[in-house]
Amino acid sequence: MRIGILGAGLSGVSLAFFLQDSENISSISILEKEMEYGGLCRSFPFHDIHYDIGPHILFSKDRSVMQLVIDFLSGNVHTIRRSNQIYHKCRYIKYPFENDLYHLPDEDRAYCLNTFLNNPYEKFRPANMMQFFLTTFGEGITNLYLRPYNEKIWKFDPCFMDTQMVERIPKPPAEDIIKSAQGICTEGYVHQLNFQYPKTGGIASLVDGFAVRHNDKISLRTGFDIRHIDRDNGTWKVTSAKGETLVFDRLVSTIPIPELAMSLVHLLPDRILSATGELKSNSIIICPMRLEKDFLGANFVITCADSSIIFHRLSKLDFLYDRQTAGDGSVTVVAEITYRKNDTIDAMTDDRIAQQVIDGLLKMQLINNPQECLDIIVKRFEYSYVIYDLNHRNNVDTIKHYYEHTLGIWLAGRFGEYEYLNMDSIVKRMLEKSIEIKKSLFIERMPE
Ligand SMILES: Cc1cc2nc3c(=O)[nH]c(=O)nc-3n(C[C@H](O)[C@H](O)[C@H](O)COP(=O)(O)OP(=O)(O)OC[C@H]3O[C@@H](n4cnc5c(N)ncnc54)[C@H](O)[C@@H]3O)c2cc1C
Repeated sequence: MRIGILGAGLSGVSLAFFLQDSENISSISILEKEMEYGGLCRSFPFHDIHYDIGPHILFSKDRSVMQLVIDFLSGNVHTIRRSNQIYHKCRYIKYPFENDLYHLPDEDRAYCLNTFLNNPYEKFRPANMMQFFLTTFGEGITNLYLRPYNEKIWKFDPCFMDTQMVERIPKPPAEDIIKSAQGICTEGYVHQLNFQYPKTGGIASLVDGFAVRHNDKISLRTGFDIRHIDRDNGTWKVTSAKGETLVFDRLVSTIPIPELAMSLVHLLPDRILSATGELKSNSIIICPMRLEKDFLGANFVITCADSSIIFHRLSKLDFLYDRQTAGDGSVTVVAEITYRKNDTIDAMTDDRIAQQVIDGLLKMQLINNPQECLDIIVKRFEYSYVIYDLNHRNNVDTIKHYYEHTLGIWLAGRFGEYEYLNMDSIVKRMLEKSIEIKKSLFIERMPE
């Protein structure tokens, strides 16, 4: 069996590794359109460090998966303790918001505490993300932070998003919220309190960890932009933008479902094309910058729900490299800005984006004048976050069922399956997927 894996992000590169020992597989080709592999797990040099497409921290509730991930980093990893703040009305509140109500202005603290303790929505079963926030956290925490922050990051109204992403968030105990309002500090979301990160090279080191362990059954082709896929006598012919065609017995796609559909449009019925057309996602702008002075102190991340500031998150990368500042006292910070195709941010030039980031830093008093931003670049990435709109589950299940059961193409990965998957889930699912594929190939080879 010749296996073609479409896309060389973490999914494609790790899946190939997990499949390579199968006796029923003669070759595995990973086809990637970019000139380098890694997808969303690529890292780029900037001054003396690397930045990711948004800092990619490693954490998992599943210890065995976490250990597996760490093993692939071969010692190039260290543990860091979270230290995040939320910018709110010119103040900094410790993350998560509900665990630090004490530092809110008096009227906001009272609003959050009262509406949490006397919550008229508490007993309702939430039908969408916004209702989940109201039933779980009450009106104050929702209106002051969760609603504006979620609107800002998704660029989509949370009233039209389902509860898949949030339903596992536990309701904070009333004692914790009361303590938080009294200034007695508690920690929330403890599974992310300590996380891992490569000591050098950025998160790309993780994908490299899989790639260096590939055996000679695997070939990884970059610069292969898949444009057309066709069936031919029980095989699949995959053609690139340059007109090169490769032939495979089975395909696994980790490329975004809409990209796959463009290559296969002639084989897809209208209902699959229309479900594909309804899928929604965000794009992201990443702005690494060098600031002359360190105004972020011991903080790693500052999130910002304020709609007058263009970015939703600032991360101090020196933190990931286990240092306070670079030798000259400067710091490297990354701003993240999400956008939707054809919205106002999408239409802005890179210079305008950079200017708005600097304006945001000034407003937050993280710099005193624009000259303190010594260098800034703007990079755009089309696929960033899957949006769980109210039709997402139905659309994705329909599409996946058609590819896997009618066409016989396996779907895998964040945009390959259109699920909000982090790296730990990707590695876990690719291990599981490899077992499913090996089993299926074994059964196909059994004599009748
Ligand atoms: C802003 C941001 C922050 C994140 N932070 C974290 C974090 O802190 N911790 C964490 O665990 N996870 C994080 N993640 C999630 C993590 O990035 C993903 O789980 C992981 O990278 C997904 O890998 P993938 O291979 O499934 O998808 P991708 O990386 O998207 O790979 C798909 C590949 O397919 C290629 N491709 C697309 N079209 C074609 C075509 N036509 N022909 C050939 N190739 C094609 C793409 O170039 C890409 O290389 C974050 C994601 C984002 C966007």
